[in-house]
Amino acid sequence: MSENIAAVIVAAGKGERMQASIPKAFLKLCGRPLFTYSLATFMQVKAVSKYVVVVPENKIKNTRDICSKFFGDKQTKRINIVKGGDCRQVSVENALKALSSDTAWVLIHDAARPLVDNKLIKRVIDNTKQYGAAVPGIKAVDTLKKINLRENLGSTVNRDSILYVQTPQGFRLTTLRKAYMQARQKSLFATDDASLIQALGKPVKVVLGSPLNFKVTFPEDKILTTAILNYKRKKNVENRSRL
Ligand code: C5P
Repeated sequence: MSENIAAVIVAAGKGERMQASIPKAFLKLCGRPLFTYSLATFMQVKAVSKYVVVVPENKIKNTRDICSKFFGDKQTKRINIVKGGDCRQVSVENALKALSSDTAWVLIHDAARPLVDNKLIKRVIDNTKQYGAAVPGIKAVDTLKKINLRENLGSTVNRDSILYVQTPQGFRLTTLRKAYMQARQKSLFATDDASLIQALGKPVKVVLGSPLNFKVTFPEDKILTTAILNYKRKKNVENRSRL
């Protein structure tokens, strides 16, 4: 049986909380559109052989041009660029339709998480193959409180029971398709893919995420991401000059 792994990068959100005039995934950080960072990282992982990038319909041509510029024409031919929907769930659904049946496993990743690293991706792949479904997560470090309607503090939530769930989330393609079909039939709505797998009654393995794999959401996140990208670039130059 084929063991092909596909990476889906969902980049079709408007990013309203970013208050930018262009879709968030196309914002330039250190001279490159946001979505190219995670795509480049997935392209370095040998086990991944297919890529789908989901973008707003009016950005399809622009996305192809950007990919050609940053990855070259040969690599760009391997990237399937598809149109997104009104919500993340529909964007993922469109990507699932675009994948051929020789794909065994699929990793769904938010373009808004540009700092995902190879090791995290490999952890997700290994655990997805072993358990059928896996997601990265990190434990809460702050004290967690409920708030009431007047924004007064309510009870404290035990933070040991809370997980910040990230992407990439890995699944067997056939199971994820089933989960999305059930969601459509039952009008289920979710902000991540694992929730729809859970709605099928299937277990999802948690693997260690990374604090750097945060979702670029607010304008301040751009400053933080740019600083980290510059730091990484400097480290790479330093490491190379030591060789
Ligand atoms: O809106 P949120 O931050 O949860 O979006 C997570 C990811 O889903 C982002 O990378 C965004 O581009 C993507 N998305 C999408 N299509 C939408 C909404 C969000 O591909 N309609």
